[in-house]
Amino acid sequence: MSASQNPPVAGAPGENSPTLLVKIFGKDRPGITAGLFDTLSAYSVDVIDIEQVVTRGRIVLCALVTAPAGGDTEGELRATVHAWAESHKLQAEIISGRGDNRPRAAGRSHVTVLGQPLTAESTSAVAARITALGGNIDRIFRLAKYPVTAVEFEVSGAEPEPLRTALATEAAALGIDVAVVASGLHRRAQRLVVMDVDSTLIQDEVIELFAAHAGCEDQVAEVTEAAMRGELDFEQSLHARVALLAGLDASVVDKVRAEVRLTPGARTLIRTLKRLGYQVGVVSGGFTQVTDDLQERLGLDFASANTLEVAEGKLTGRVVGEVVDRAGKARLLRRFAAEAGVPLAQTVAIGDGANDLDMLNAAGLGVAFNAKPVVREAAHTAVNVPFLDTVLYLLGITREEVEAAHTHAD
Ligand SMILES: [Mg+2]
Repeated sequence: MSASQNPPVAGAPGENSPTLLVKIFGKDRPGITAGLFDTLSAYSVDVIDIEQVVTRGRIVLCALVTAPAGGDTEGELRATVHAWAESHKLQAEIISGRGDNRPRAAGRSHVTVLGQPLTAESTSAVAARITALGGNIDRIFRLAKYPVTAVEFEVSGAEPEPLRTALATEAAALGIDVAVVASGLHRRAQRLVVMDVDSTLIQDEVIELFAAHAGCEDQVAEVTEAAMRGELDFEQSLHARVALLAGLDASVVDKVRAEVRLTPGARTLIRTLKRLGYQVGVVSGGFTQVTDDLQERLGLDFASANTLEVAEGKLTGRVVGEVVDRAGKARLLRRFAAEAGVPLAQTVAIGDGANDLDMLNAAGLGVAFNAKPVVREAAHTAVNVPFLDTVLYLLGITREEVEAAHTHAD
């Protein structure tokens, strides 16, 4: 045996040694697990695996144990376990076999499904797609029932990329959200989350809030539409819209800051991520006059945006410094990741606009948040419910964990 090999584990069954799968089902009450293993302990069996789940007060407990030595001992064990189960009004099933669980196949991923509601039809369609791609569903559990129903499938035997593509198509057809994230330690490693601001972290478009104060909403909207038609690029449209704000009193900045409405779930998302040790940043094609305030209020680690130039107490209609555009957002994601010491593969980016696409594609996980179809189709995954905290479920964080983090919040 080479030095790098693990020594044989005492008590681990050989591939062919006889094992027993003991399944208990019935009304849950305290002491069932202790009772079953106390009953088994009379036969000196070893535990190989245990899985237990309680759903609406019913317990399913599966124990895989070594078969007891000696001729008739297995028969005695069976009779004793059945008698114990009956006395507790539980059903027991004992299946003889050999060895441990089959090792999970390569190609492992976490498939998170969000529905509001999550219908049986959608669940069937997702499961069928996984099966069609050669995947096996090894485990399923609920992450959350609020504000959406979120369940996670642990899948093996299917490559994450084709699974992601197939399930994205299915999700769009079904009106649910599905995220596929490859399994691995990176899912637990410290990460950086970078968000767009307008229509992502907040419900507003900041330029429109300024425009309302300047009385030029219609002109700003015209420029925005021209940009959407592809007649102007982002930088041109930014300069054209900011020019319309020239002469506006700088005191409007405070009014706009007060008008900004956070997206539902934004605080929960950020607070939970911070408590988990994530670093959180924002990048915006909007303005530092607003993002600096958000950074302070929300305790963000990074923030970058365009800066409206102010002279003699008035907006000049110009921006100063480097323009944050589509390429700029991706560049800032890389810069924040380098500063945070987080590899790009462990970053998450969230955004809604075409402007966010480079950033979403550069990140380890790009989440299109209530985005336009062109963005939704190009991103790794999409969330189409208006709650920012649902992104936590894509990272495998359960609602219970979110709520526990808040109960202990100061
Ligand atoms: Mg946006």
